[in-house]
Amino acid sequence: MDQSVRCPKCAAEVSDPTQPCPQCGYVIEHPQRKRYQRQVVASGVTVLLGYALGMTGTATRLDVLGIAGLVMGFVGGVWLMVSLYLLLRTGV
Ligand SMILES: [Zn+2]
Repeated sequence: MDQSVRCPKCAAEVSDPTQPCPQCGYVIEHPQRKRYQRQVVASGVTVLLGYALGMTGTATRLDVLGIAGLVMGFVGGVWLMVSLYLLLRTGV
């Protein structure tokens, strides 16, 4: 099976799209890209859950829930930033 593709930057033939183009070094399909995309989604969900937990804690006046939500939202936020940064480094 012929899996070779053309580099979108210099039009050279690249046999493996997860490897950098031998002509110009352009990475067509970053091997870690899918993993980073999943991490962005997972961390986004963590932020939302933390927010929901914090809101629940505030509404029910349970400080423990509020603090847990705050920590979860903060950790999720940092994680989201890191995943987004890594994802953007693989090219958009
Ligand atoms: Zn190229």
